[in-house]
Amino acid sequence: MNTAMTLPRRPQPEISALTRPFWAAAATGALVVQRCLACAHLRFPPGPVCTQCLDERSEWTPLSGRGSVLSHLVFHQGYDAIWRQTLPYSVVMLQLDEGPRMFSDIDDPQRRWIDADLVGRRVEVWFDPLAAGIAVPRFRVVG
Ligand SMILES: [Zn+2]
Repeated sequence: MNTAMTLPRRPQPEISALTRPFWAAAATGALVVQRCLACAHLRFPPGPVCTQCLDERSEWTPLSGRGSVLSHLVFHQGYDAIWRQTLPYSVVMLQLDEGPRMFSDIDDPQRRWIDADLVGRRVEVWFDPLAAGIAVPRFRVVG
């Protein structure tokens, strides 16, 4: 009997035909969103139609990966074993510079930002390798 403790596996994204381009770009270190071919609206999360004009046509376009924190909260309770290992951790809503908003966590191994007010802080994306061919866009505070 193997009594060694097994670390929980980090959750994997559910990749669909709709989200595959997003994850394929992330694996190469690019943050992309859909741009409507009718009205140029940038949308996230991925969807089958434009949330502004309902046009179905879109193309994937890269973003700078920079933005600002709109809202910040700190989780002190882990609802899954994998997250209990990293308590406490920050969850933020980001305003990306090009317009879309995105939820993320803040990469903070030294716990510099747990007790700080992050609202308005500048952030940049980085890509956390999760598995072969899969990287998760995450953010860190800059400046
Ligand atoms: Zn549109």
